Amino acid sequence: MGLKDLIQKYSTAGPRYTSYPTAPQFTEKLDSIAYRKDLQKNGLSNVKPLSLYAHIPFCENLCYYCGCNILITKDHGRGASYVESLLGELRTVAGLLGERRVLSQIAWGGGTPTFLSVDEITRLQKGTLELFRLTEDAEVSIEIDPRVTSHEQLERLRELGFNRVSLGVQDFHPEVQQAVNRVQTAEMTASMLSFCRKIGYRGINFDFIYGLPFQTLERFERTVDQILEQRPDRIALYNYAHLPSLRPHQKILEKYPMPSADERVDIFLMAYERLTTAGYRAIGMDHFALADDDLAKAISTGALYRNFMGYTVQRAEDMIGIGASAIGEIGNGYFQNIRETKPYQDAIEKTGLATLRGCQATEEDLKRKWVIQRLMCKFQLSYIEYEAKFGDNFSSHFSWELERLAPFFEQGILESSPHEIRVSDLGRLFIRNVAMLFDEYLRKPQAATYSRTV
Ligand code: SF4
Repeated sequence: MGLKDLIQKYSTAGPRYTSYPTAPQFTEKLDSIAYRKDLQKNGLSNVKPLSLYAHIPFCENLCYYCGCNILITKDHGRGASYVESLLGELRTVAGLLGERRVLSQIAWGGGTPTFLSVDEITRLQKGTLELFRLTEDAEVSIEIDPRVTSHEQLERLRELGFNRVSLGVQDFHPEVQQAVNRVQTAEMTASMLSFCRKIGYRGINFDFIYGLPFQTLERFERTVDQILEQRPDRIALYNYAHLPSLRPHQKILEKYPMPSADERVDIFLMAYERLTTAGYRAIGMDHFALADDDLAKAISTGALYRNFMGYTVQRAEDMIGIGASAIGEIGNGYFQNIRETKPYQDAIEKTGLATLRGCQATEEDLKRKWVIQRLMCKFQLSYIEYEAKFGDNFSSHFSWELERLAPFFEQGILESSPHEIRVSDLGRLFIRNVAMLFDEYLRKPQAATYSRTV
């Protein structure tokens, strides 16, 4: 079966597995009281570095494809009080964690984190570093929108320890940009990239989306030409998730011609082939990195890890999520904050935490989480390692799954030896489909809506 046939066969809706169990399993039974207990227990029993994710939801303008938790406003006066809420939440968390105060990763996402002024950025990062210490090789990253980010903000962020940036681009074609309400010239992006490089940011990422209105194979080829001219260190190439039932503003895009399912496959295949020929390595699913980038090197060294921030080389077992809608992972539990900004801030003011819902992983979930993590990050799964860790026989525990993996072996997506499954280079494209076989919850009736796997 050719690559195009495989993509057509396996393009289905499925989770991204930034957690297991995935978000649809979260319930409101887990609230701030449970989160408080888990933080306290964890602070006493674990001394390893943590990750921190801060969600800043504000954006000045709405991009019509957007699937993030955002608040559209031009009122920059909202930034200062929001920063105080983030720091209020962080103080509560730090107090409960006790002595466990080291971070190996910080990521600010949104929304648009650079909606905050230089002073607010400084207040948030300095406030964080009064409570937590960074490891020497910590990855400190921020998502930036080149349309609204100033050199002064980027310089201050560098002084404050930020060393990675991710730039939203999506497509370079003017007609596509007009339709999605995000006009950002290639020159604007190139100039921001070169400034970021000049002042020392590394692992610079560009985000792109295929499946947007007015995109065609020829037009996206031109976008790929421009990507290759600019040569960012990392590229994320996402399949557009059109989910107007969850994001009503996406309905606006329905008045425009959209690429068909077949055209989307052609666009992805063209981009995949051109990027990999030009020196990018496919990291897994929708990510690419230049061979000398840390993310690409981490495939060979086995240091790749995956959490709510996506792929990373800084493995931290636990992650604190602060801000509206942020998700954290502590011990065997996941906890998500209230999604709306004002109720989030009110809850922080009243109790210091704003947990809305969460999930405690069962013994069975932990086994499946381990298997999915191995497949998605190490692209390899050793039965012997599993058995040493969990004390039961892999082949009998997962006999249902092993039976159903057969087509993946026949199609070259997986390779096997007596006690191991390996994901081939080609197989990385279909890794979500492989992981889905190990996801017990997908066998139960459910109403969750996911993006497409490829
Ligand atoms: S800038 Fe990013 S987060 Fe804000 S609306 Fe556009 S896509 Fe969404």
